[in-house]
Amino acid sequence: MSPRAVAALRAVVYDGRTVSAVPRPELSPGRGEVLVRPVRVGVTPADLQVAESCLKFRGVLGHEFVGVVEKAADGAGAPWVGKRVVGSPVVSCGVCERCRAGLSAHCADRRVLGLHDRDGCWADRFAIPASNLVEVPKSVGDDAALLSGVAGTALHAARATRLEGKTYVSIIGDNALALIAVQVFAKLNASVRVLGFEPARFSVCDRWRLKHRHADEVGRRQDQDVVFECSGTARGAELATRLVRPRGRVLLASPSPGVPRQALPDTGPVLDSVTVAVGEIEVVGIGRGSIRDGLDALARGQIDTSGLVTRRGVMFDPAAAFDLAREPGCVRLSVEEPRR
Ligand SMILES: [Zn+2]
Repeated sequence: MSPRAVAALRAVVYDGRTVSAVPRPELSPGRGEVLVRPVRVGVTPADLQVAESCLKFRGVLGHEFVGVVEKAADGAGAPWVGKRVVGSPVVSCGVCERCRAGLSAHCADRRVLGLHDRDGCWADRFAIPASNLVEVPKSVGDDAALLSGVAGTALHAARATRLEGKTYVSIIGDNALALIAVQVFAKLNASVRVLGFEPARFSVCDRWRLKHRHADEVGRRQDQDVVFECSGTARGAELATRLVRPRGRVLLASPSPGVPRQALPDTGPVLDSVTVAVGEIEVVGIGRGSIRDGLDALARGQIDTSGLVTRRGVMFDPAAAFDLAREPGCVRLSVEEPRR
């Protein structure tokens, strides 16, 4: 028997103190589920929050992946085995009032892979409902597909915005969401700029000839029609209300989209309610968008993700992976099996 055949399966687990790769027994997918072997796992700001105990999650990390379906249980529907897939990490119950009303993203009983009440995808194999999956077309590479959920959220934000005439839009942050959103908004005839905190991350905008500045270098003139706050920080939220014009719109993204409020820290970024009231500012929350919409936009070449996977790590060396993810120039870290 080859050493590979006897090697135990592994998973990257957070136990409340440390993140480590641990052996794990073989999994069986439940009814309607499939078993996926990830070829890429994205390490996102939300994973950093888990590792720093900012979220209440304990268990197998990972909520962003591209993988190949290895096994499908009864009730999984379409012939999934062998397909290259991405998937929404939000697992809803399908039967509650919100799910029946078409609001499954807000299911009262939802779990989120690697973030809330369900083991994640940072493992040799993981189980996920087949209904969460979308097959990746051949024209979309693994790195782009990894960011399809983020692309879906950027599109979701653009749809929550009325852009009439030449609209002034500021996007706060320099994570993958901000750097994809700036491309989406630029295509809507908006005069758009990124206001970032780490030049090593936001200077990638030069590639798309889109404006960018350090957030500390802009005046607080309250002249922006729309401000999309992507950083999930108190600093970003404060800046958003100082930049938006009276009766303008602030879009607020969650740093850990999909995760229910009760699983998040007791205090979050605070918005100055007086500034909002005086300025008659409209504040709109932006949750997780559709991964299918994101993938479609990538397949049509509407979003350029080249240059956004800025670091690569090996799948089961989480300490090294988190060091890479914390580097100032890291937009997205992909952990992968070493090429054999
Ligand atoms: Zn539900």
